[in-house]
Amino acid sequence: MRVVVSGGSGFLGSHLCEALLRRRDRVCCLDNFSSGRVLNLAPMMSKPGFECIPGDVTDPLRVHGDVDAVVHLASPASPLDYARRPLQTLATGSRGTENLLELAVRHRARFVLASTSEVYGDPEIHPQDEDYWGHVNPVGPRSVYDEAKRFAEALTMAYRRSRGADTGIVRIFNTYGPRMRADDGRVVSTFVTQALDGEALTVFGDGGQTRSLCYVDDMVRGLLAMVDADLPGPVNLGNPCERTVRELAELVLMITGSDSGLCFLPLPVDDPVRRRPVITRAFETLGWQPQVPLEEGLRRTVAWFAARSDTSVPPPDS
Ligand code: NAD
Ligand code: UDP
Repeated sequence: MRVVVSGGSGFLGSHLCEALLRRRDRVCCLDNFSSGRVLNLAPMMSKPGFECIPGDVTDPLRVHGDVDAVVHLASPASPLDYARRPLQTLATGSRGTENLLELAVRHRARFVLASTSEVYGDPEIHPQDEDYWGHVNPVGPRSVYDEAKRFAEALTMAYRRSRGADTGIVRIFNTYGPRMRADDGRVVSTFVTQALDGEALTVFGDGGQTRSLCYVDDMVRGLLAMVDADLPGPVNLGNPCERTVRELAELVLMITGSDSGLCFLPLPVDDPVRRRPVITRAFETLGWQPQVPLEEGLRRTVAWFAARSDTSVPPPDS
């Protein structure tokens, strides 16, 4: 297969590109390097079957040759990144998604949308299954991301219904692992970096809010399964192992052996109180479930961060 991966130089995208190459697919990565890094592509650059086309997916696409599948991962993804780029986030979720859907339809290719648990907003039911419609503040600071993804899901379903597109939607829950940026503001990368640097871990609020964290290798297996399936979804992909942010901070301190301690900062506006995926659908339809326990995944992540100093990108220009 030749697979177009938008956002292929990012955290999830670069792991997905590598996994596709490992199973002998060809990969065409589209990226504007706004939050992705050339360094993430370095191990692939010389591999046969890999190609990178720099550019923005909101512009007309310059993909030539055959296309069998399109995986649309391009989007600012961390709360810090989408707060910095609100208009680009909305444009990437709307115009970018449309451009990639058009590409898929033109080639009769499978299209997989990387949606998010954020479509559930600050959920009123717990845990969250795919039939829950969500509780999103449409005008709050997170709305540029949440609503862009909700629109992208609607657009994907409209292409399926009206244009016969072969589409699949995955709703990705918090994922962590090697190649996260130290400065992306996400909880795992931030806590690990702070612990290794001997700085206090910045717990927002009282740290009682929960997240369910999935190791990147598990997530990539789920994405590949959705590429290979002919299911429309949406399908939740995530690890149901739920922890409070404070428990996570303490686990990171334990694994790093750091005595940094914790400091408490205000909770960001609209920060979801709890989040845990129901993954019955992923198990029953894709045969997928996560395998890497949190402590093991964190150990691998800490080892990766400890071995590297260059884990950030320059601040954006807008
Ligand atoms: P990331 O920031 O590391 O990767 C996103 C990539 O998209 C980057 O390489 C960036 O340069 C690129 N990009 C952004 N806008 C673009 C544009 N307009 N044109 C071309 N390239 C563009 O983030 P990630 O964690 O790897 O997330 C990948 C996808 O998965 C995103 O769509 C995100 O919403 C989704 N997701 C991730 C998580 C998670 O926990 N990592 C959770 C839910 C959903
Ligand atoms: N968080 C925190 N300290 C940080 C970064 C994040 O306490 O330095 C909290 C944040 O308030 C949220 C959780 O960790 O409750 C997950 O945040 P992240 O940005 O990783 O993901 P998201 O909010 O998108 O799930």
